[in-house]
Amino acid sequence: MTLPDFDGYPRWSQPNEPYAAFPKVTLHDHLDGSLRPETLIELAAEHDVTLPYNDPEKLASWFTGEITEPTINHWDEKFGLTTRVMQTEESIARVAREWVREAAADGVIYGETRWAPEKHILGGLPLVVAVEAVATGLQQGEADVAAAGGHIRARQLLCGMRSSTLSFEIARLTVATYGRWGDSVAGFDIAGPEDGFPIRHHLDATELLQREGVPFTLHTGEADGEHSVWETVHLAHTLRLGHGTRVIEDVTLNGRPLNVRTAVKEVAAAREAGRAELELGKTAQWVVDRRIPLEQCVTSNSKGGVVLGIDNHPIDLLRSLGFTVTINPDNRGMSKTSISQEFRRIESQFGWGVPEFAEAERAGVEATFLSRTDRDALRVQLDQSIAAFGE
Ligand SMILES: [Zn+2]
Repeated sequence: MTLPDFDGYPRWSQPNEPYAAFPKVTLHDHLDGSLRPETLIELAAEHDVTLPYNDPEKLASWFTGEITEPTINHWDEKFGLTTRVMQTEESIARVAREWVREAAADGVIYGETRWAPEKHILGGLPLVVAVEAVATGLQQGEADVAAAGGHIRARQLLCGMRSSTLSFEIARLTVATYGRWGDSVAGFDIAGPEDGFPIRHHLDATELLQREGVPFTLHTGEADGEHSVWETVHLAHTLRLGHGTRVIEDVTLNGRPLNVRTAVKEVAAAREAGRAELELGKTAQWVVDRRIPLEQCVTSNSKGGVVLGIDNHPIDLLRSLGFTVTINPDNRGMSKTSISQEFRRIESQFGWGVPEFAEAERAGVEATFLSRTDRDALRVQLDQSIAAFGE
């Protein structure tokens, strides 16, 4: 597969990344969490926004938590900085355009980026104009990639927020813009703080989308456990689980429920001791049986506190239990990662190789919000590129 050659891209990969040319699909990839630090510094100067650092490396390290000063109370404060510089059509389109270039240089052939329109109207921009600006940027990015010898398709998902009362309005916006601007708007999501903000407060939004035939995914199973996943699956009828990592807490080991933080080590110890009976609860079984895809974000979960360290992440355990897993960066900038880096980390931690990554990417193709015909075509493209990579 030919990767487009852009000067200075990709920002979050190592030189000679071994899986860079492996074809990928990205499904859980926040637009406002992926700004290049250089871009953020330029836009902040234009928009009179003060940043904690004006050196790209320092700023990047502050976003990822390697530099802790100045301290913050919640991740949202960091998103607050990135969204503050994305309040005009031009700045929004620029960030979307760069998102596409960055993804293509990471081997992505199809991507859905998500963002919350309600965070981009502080300067008076109408919601629909903000959505069109993202569509424009994504199309410019696709054209840049084609001109540089690569190929990518990029779509957007509109996010409501769990902590906001606007989710129904954003769902209506999604219905109104679904399929517009060359199929740019592909679906909907609800993001934001999970614990204390249950999805049952947003069922008017998800019911509207179901009635109108607009696909959606929902953040869940990240900061809250099995019951949150149950609500998302059985009350809201989501098509995918944004993370879904804590569905592992609906699995018992020798009769005791697993805890996401200790699951990997507990199962390994039980296997060592010769008795590791794993049994899926009703919610977990439903997710496996219906093949509801988990949008797994390993580095993000490890840095964000869902688990402590990649070695404790249950992605491999979930796969071995029959869950449908896909590999995603979540927030490339906040997590300082790319999908190629996710592959490398999963390979070194869990021993995955080309067969497992091919399986995850094929699951990713099936999980996209494309039409059946488009998914079939993407699957052919993916398989050809995997064969060229060397399966
Ligand atoms: Zn997310």
